[in-house]
Amino acid sequence: ADDDIKAAAAPLAAILKRMRAGVAFTGAGISTECGIPDFRSPGGLWTRNRPIDYPSFLASGEMRAEAWRRRFAMEAAFGGARPGRGHRALADLLAAGQLQAIITQNIDGLHQASGVAEARLVELHGNSTYATCLECGARYELGWVRARFEEARERAPDCTDCAGPIKTATISFGQPMPSAAMARAGALSGDCDVFLAIGSSLVVWPAAGFPVQAKRAGATLVIVNREPTELDALADLVIHADIGDVFSAALER
Ligand code: NAD
Repeated sequence: ADDDIKAAAAPLAAILKRMRAGVAFTGAGISTECGIPDFRSPGGLWTRNRPIDYPSFLASGEMRAEAWRRRFAMEAAFGGARPGRGHRALADLLAAGQLQAIITQNIDGLHQASGVAEARLVELHGNSTYATCLECGARYELGWVRARFEEARERAPDCTDCAGPIKTATISFGQPMPSAAMARAGALSGDCDVFLAIGSSLVVWPAAGFPVQAKRAGATLVIVNREPTELDALADLVIHADIGDVFSAALER
């Protein structure tokens, strides 16, 4: 199995060696070795809870309370997660100046935790490690929200400045995509020599449009994912294996 991984990683190592202005695009698969389940694998989060979409969150206090209950349950389950081998490999490639930036669909904050500066990170779906007021943008820490939630016997708290609804700083289905992040991701995708799509089923749009854009603009497209993805046929290199194993082997080379 070790030899299989080494053989699979060899063409990736060759591409990384000549990469000068790469962009990485990461999905939930890079965080599974950290104990955070992805969405679409068997046993993934979607088989348990239907996500609360944005209109439902806005429409009812009961839905907002349910969203917070789920968020605190997640915190209890995954709050202690640390970056994995994939996060660390990308942080190393950034530090070496070979990667320009990481575009992520993840909301777990693990790229930041691996030492990646905000300026090098584009979060397409936001961040679940803090909250903001949807009206005025005021920032709230989860601990503060939790204390208010518990004091008020599980009522979702409102903004202390403007009374607007407070929500984790994530993008829900039905919520507009963050325009600055989308613009940055588009610019990066259109101007890179290598585009590394890592641990994403590449089915959530518009995020999955970035690998397509990069390929059209002439980048070498690499996909690393355990299962086939929607865009395998478009890629220059596809590796169906464990992300941590593949990147450890490739960087060792
Ligand atoms: P996804 O669940 O659709 O796809 C993840 C892919 O990663 C799957 O195809 C799976 O086969 C693969 N995978 C899982 N573990 C792997 C491993 N160790 N090595 C190689 N491949 C592995 O995830 P997505 O494409 O990111 O889309 C899901 C959406 O859900 C995103 O929008 C994201 O915002 C959100 N989400 C985020 C987190 C997180 O922040 N960690 C977790 C779950 C879902």
